[in-house]
Amino acid sequence: TLTTRFAPSPTGYLHVGGARTALYSWLYAQKNGGNFILRIEDTDLERSTQASVDAIMDGMNWLNLEWTHGPYFQTKRFDRYKEVIAQLLESGNAYRCYCSAEEVEAMREEAKAKGEIEKYNGMWRDRTDYPEDKPYVIRFKNPLDGDVVIKDMVKGDITISNEQLDDLIIARTDGTPTYNLTVVVDDWDMKVSHVVRGDDHISNTPKQINILKALGAEIPEYAHIPMILGDDGKRLSKRHGAVSVMQYRDDGYLPEALLNYLVRLGWSHGDQEIFSREEMIELFDLKDCNRAPSGFNTDKLIWVNQHYMKTMEPSYVAKHLAWHMEDQGINTDNGPELAEIVKIQADRVKTLKEMAEISTYFYQDFTEFEAKAAKKHLRGVAKEPLQLVKEKLAALDNWQAEAIHAAINATAEELEVGMGKVGMPLRVAATGGGNSPSLDVTLALLAKDKVLARIDLALA
Ligand code: GLU
Repeated sequence: TLTTRFAPSPTGYLHVGGARTALYSWLYAQKNGGNFILRIEDTDLERSTQASVDAIMDGMNWLNLEWTHGPYFQTKRFDRYKEVIAQLLESGNAYRCYCSAEEVEAMREEAKAKGEIEKYNGMWRDRTDYPEDKPYVIRFKNPLDGDVVIKDMVKGDITISNEQLDDLIIARTDGTPTYNLTVVVDDWDMKVSHVVRGDDHISNTPKQINILKALGAEIPEYAHIPMILGDDGKRLSKRHGAVSVMQYRDDGYLPEALLNYLVRLGWSHGDQEIFSREEMIELFDLKDCNRAPSGFNTDKLIWVNQHYMKTMEPSYVAKHLAWHMEDQGINTDNGPELAEIVKIQADRVKTLKEMAEISTYFYQDFTEFEAKAAKKHLRGVAKEPLQLVKEKLAALDNWQAEAIHAAINATAEELEVGMGKVGMPLRVAATGGGNSPSLDVTLALLAKDKVLARIDLALA
């Protein structure tokens, strides 16, 4: 079975780069009916936290990227790593090295001075005269000649000569395994067939391939995904604003929008921009990913978000809006259905957070009107149309947009003024400000007694 994995180190939140890697791995597995493993690479005990593990899983759950296996934790697999290290020693593919860090550093300096490749010189490779009671690391016996070829699905073939590679440390002096060893053992044991990861890992790949070969393991396919850049052309980071997936939730993006944005960030299918989940799964392919890095563009993300807010089922969007209402402390138990709010506000905002902010008056009364709007529309002459329209509205049995519209119209005609001279004071009175969706629809959703009470407040 085709098997991919997402292997984050739990040292922070799930950021958009990681989420995109997870998405591409997940899509490729989905497309091929394969497995998708979540593996937590938590061997760096000092920097790994449970809070980060939770944050990563929260992010994946919010994006609805379900893993079929795991989460596996590397810290629970130390016995297995020791076993493989022993196996490599046994088969002569690894050896003890008693050099201190300073000695190794000196070797590198020396090589550098001679204009040679800076690396450990292999002085313990073939020795067995081990000193007693001295700490040692275990190094992998990298082949001395020949090439390693990475057949990368994104970048094409990459050839590295073994001469360039160090005998890398696979176990530290305290016996704990190093990063490249744990990845290799896991990918092997977990039968990972496709390694999808950021291209910042590409220098590790030849080392990992050599270890896999020494173990007699099958070499997986690799797909190294180029980085995401900020608008200054540097690698996307906190400096560029929100990078955490959950921050995008907090900022008011729909998970579908973020996913759609991320799938296009590094992959394309003609000039199509909008992809449903099903379409993504059907059309995505690792070999169609861009070779060059992609720039993160918030304006485009907003555009995609607006598309989804406007086109998804309002009752679905309403569930996400409900989260933002609650987040902003707005109780929506009394007032219109949130789906109705979505219908009238979706094309007026960039995000759900904004939608919640401009919709508070549907659920909360206010005691003050927005100063500028009140000054312009509630003073002096405005009182007359407001008084008259209130009487007409009060007389309505049928509190619906059409009837409300007719009442406003009749008021304007009676006073021989334009609709705006009635509509604007009424809008400010009912909503507290000068901006709202179509007035008749807004009032209909607000309920009659609420509108009348607010007009009284404006007239007071
Ligand atoms: N744990 C690594 C990281 O967070 C990923 C390793 C891999 O995908 O092979 O960058």
